[in-house]
Amino acid sequence: MDICYLCGQVMVDRKDYTVDNSKPIPKFKHDEHIIQNALYGRLTACNILCEICGSKLSKNIDAEFVKLFDLFTAPISHSLAPKDHGKDFSKTLFGYLIKKKDGEKIDVHIKEGKIAPKKPVYDYIKEAHTLKIYGANKKALENYKKFSLKELQSEGVDIQNINIELIDDIKDYHELGIYFSEKVENFNSKFKLGLSKIATGFAASKGVKREDMPCTLNIQTEEIIANSNTVPFFPLGSLDFAMESARSLAEEGFPTHTLILYTDKSFNKTKLVCYIDLFSTFQYYVVLNHNYNGNDISEIYYQTIIKREKPNINIRNIRPKHLMIIAEDLGVTQNEMRGMTLDERYTFLERKHKQYSVKYTLDLNDYISNASGKFFKFLAYKKLPQLLGSIGNEERLIIEGIPELDRDDLICLKLELKRTEEEPIAFYRKEYLDFGNDKKVFSFSMLNKLIELTNSSSARIKSYTNYKFYLLFQFVSVNSKNNISDD
Ligand SMILES: [Zn+2]
Repeated sequence: MDICYLCGQVMVDRKDYTVDNSKPIPKFKHDEHIIQNALYGRLTACNILCEICGSKLSKNIDAEFVKLFDLFTAPISHSLAPKDHGKDFSKTLFGYLIKKKDGEKIDVHIKEGKIAPKKPVYDYIKEAHTLKIYGANKKALENYKKFSLKELQSEGVDIQNINIELIDDIKDYHELGIYFSEKVENFNSKFKLGLSKIATGFAASKGVKREDMPCTLNIQTEEIIANSNTVPFFPLGSLDFAMESARSLAEEGFPTHTLILYTDKSFNKTKLVCYIDLFSTFQYYVVLNHNYNGNDISEIYYQTIIKREKPNINIRNIRPKHLMIIAEDLGVTQNEMRGMTLDERYTFLERKHKQYSVKYTLDLNDYISNASGKFFKFLAYKKLPQLLGSIGNEERLIIEGIPELDRDDLICLKLELKRTEEEPIAFYRKEYLDFGNDKKVFSFSMLNKLIELTNSSSARIKSYTNYKFYLLFQFVSVNSKNNISDD
């Protein structure tokens, strides 16, 4: 029997229903997106929410939640589906940056990957007798040049033979922050309700009863709730620290969505938890139940949001020597076609093409194994800066951003890699290794530690979140740009 988690009523298939005026109309099943459709979520379940409750939550929660991500999804959606949308590259992100030299904070906007101050500013570097002017574009810079020269002169600087640099893309900064939550009314409530809904839907789809998620679902009032049950993720283990800082390079299919539903037994009472990772960037634990008495759970969902399209081809028109390339695209191996005549191959591939359906889910095992391997390559790059010259600017910035690891970190990193090799996803987002009090390495619950740290480490969490935004923002801007040159 399928029960709607919100109203608690039995649901039936619409196609199995025949009108019976003597009985009330039953609740109908519908395909509910567990991660919102507008966020490119592909996981659906037909047995968790009835039609009526589905549309209620879609209006009350999803609509507001997905809007928060417009900033990132609008440019991506364009770059991935150019046929459906008009040209709109004008999406501008707003933020601030902290200057390296004096720690001054200035407001900036970020457009197509370029970072410029909202209002032009200048720096005079006395030793080099150089005037640096920062502005959004050539015109703004030229206008501001006159003003800044006048100012300098009035301060007694000899502007004869002064070097002038006009800069429309600030690269030299200490920290870049992007405004995401600022300027949105009730941001926290909208954001947390969206996360609660994802966690509840995922748990329900895995058979968790509606009575067993009291922190995200109020069955009396039939409402999704979000109180203090959301904990931001911050990398604690060395491996996570390293992998997250280079994730946009190391993850195939970046940006991705991940859901991990599991039971955490490191507390007095077992907690039922859903780890939610949206766009490889927004990373939270949602506690569904602080006192869970059901069976142990470990469920994973992992997908890319990069649009994948069925190759639109007429197999018969492919030249024989290119057949193998098409076969590969369709996931057909050479072995499968061994011994076939050419005509049989065409027929076989035609059939495969017909059957082919696009897959969005990925294997989290693969990501974790591959990414830890790739990460070692990045570490080598970082240690040998001469190698950095051979790679692109974006990659270089990310690799330079990988944090320094001390001796203890490296010891833990090695141990984490070893256990990751053996069981890639067993510990992922659940446990990390660190030195305990007696200088031995232990495995700790991430959630447990994060709850402890949330209040004391808000600055660390904030700067981590900013860095993650930056990686996503870079991806978005690079992809928008590629699209311009393609058209
Ligand atoms: Zn319902």
